[in-house]
Amino acid sequence: MGVVLDYEPCDECVEYRKLGVTLMEVRDEPVLDGFPEIQNGIYPTGRWCVIRKEAADRMFEGFVDEKNALFIDRELYDLITGGAA
Ligand SMILES: [Zn+2]
Repeated sequence: MGVVLDYEPCDECVEYRKLGVTLMEVRDEPVLDGFPEIQNGIYPTGRWCVIRKEAADRMFEGFVDEKNALFIDRELYDLITGGAA
């Protein structure tokens, strides 16, 4: 993992995220001291993946917002990705 200045994705990631809904693993404390929170009391772990919109709508009915991004905890992330990083 490189130095995190902010949580804006690079161009490559932006293109990738357009393919569907981004699932971002988060937890309630920073991975390293000083990492900024992404929302009140929520810190990204650095793991994220993109799933098809139709799949996300099915799995998270009513929770997928216009940003097409969801914050999920580790347990759920592992469940969905089969534990792959
Ligand atoms: Zn990137």
